[in-house]
Amino acid sequence: MPRFVTALLDWFDTHARPLPWRQDPTPYHVWLSEILLQQTRIAAVLDAYRRFLKQYPTIEELAQGDDATLMKLWEGLGYYSRARNLKKCARIVAEQGGFPHTAEELQKLPGIGPYTAGAISAIAFNQPAVAVDGNVARVLSRLLGSTLSRDETAEILRPCIPAGKARVFVQAWMELGEIVCLPHGTPHCDQCPLRTHCNALKTNRISEFPAKPSRPARPVIPLTVFHLTSPDGRIALQKRPDKGLLAGLWEYPNCAETLSLEQAKKWLEAKGLVVNSITPEPTTQHLFTHREWQMTNFAGTVSPQLSDFTWVTPEELENRYALPTAFRNSKARSQAHGTTRVTAIHS
Ligand code: SF4
Repeated sequence: MPRFVTALLDWFDTHARPLPWRQDPTPYHVWLSEILLQQTRIAAVLDAYRRFLKQYPTIEELAQGDDATLMKLWEGLGYYSRARNLKKCARIVAEQGGFPHTAEELQKLPGIGPYTAGAISAIAFNQPAVAVDGNVARVLSRLLGSTLSRDETAEILRPCIPAGKARVFVQAWMELGEIVCLPHGTPHCDQCPLRTHCNALKTNRISEFPAKPSRPARPVIPLTVFHLTSPDGRIALQKRPDKGLLAGLWEYPNCAETLSLEQAKKWLEAKGLVVNSITPEPTTQHLFTHREWQMTNFAGTVSPQLSDFTWVTPEELENRYALPTAFRNSKARSQAHGTTRVTAIHS
């Protein structure tokens, strides 16, 4: 076993954060935390993890839960396909009577890719698996002074798993990448257990790893969004299609073009609505992984409450309807200070 592995495991033994899923690493807890952690900040995950376990203490309860409650719990976390796969996976696992133990079998379940499969297999079952994400590949690339793909990183790490210690081995690499060998700015090399072994540190080439991938520009999609209320204070919502981006979630009425005030009024009238008032609001922007929404916002009071839309009270909107961050922000930010740029990345 390379000496740096011993140094890493000793460090993890004393520096691991007391994350809630580490206190009681049942397969359900590990799986739930790993799905939540994909593409989401840990502060948001901690809160969501507690909410989920309160609502669904067991995977069987999650499997039997209704979709609206699940989507409401997921609100704000982005990448909503994760929530749908969570439910599909829970049903299969509940039917099978538990998770399979190997990464190979775990990958056959919905929403579980190679990284998550390795993480569950190693952390929940202590099986000799590796879990390589961007963090782990970056740490090993810096350590060895060579840009490594995730597959190459996995090939190098697999033979280094100490017998019977896959659970801590996998988590130690993740932890080092998350709290010490940071991606942006300066990693905390003075606190790093691998510093005496680190090629990038010795050769002053830390910023070369990881190599920056060139990203194609995101297409900009115009959207005009209506924050409509009825005379009795109900809010207009509509449901998104069952397939595609943000499938099946709720949204404010909108159309995929940039409308002027006059055009916006006509658009509403063409829907059969009487426009009592309409006011332009500041534009907002929402970045998804592969596209950008440029949102022109209008607030209006309209009547009657036509069935094209679903009219809900503010309390119902808060408690029952899952509204993606893009739309929540389109109202909150445009009505606050006219902030025009929202930098969250979701799909
Ligand atoms: S010494 Fe610095 S660059 Fe090298 S692995 Fe540790 S934190 Fe990363």
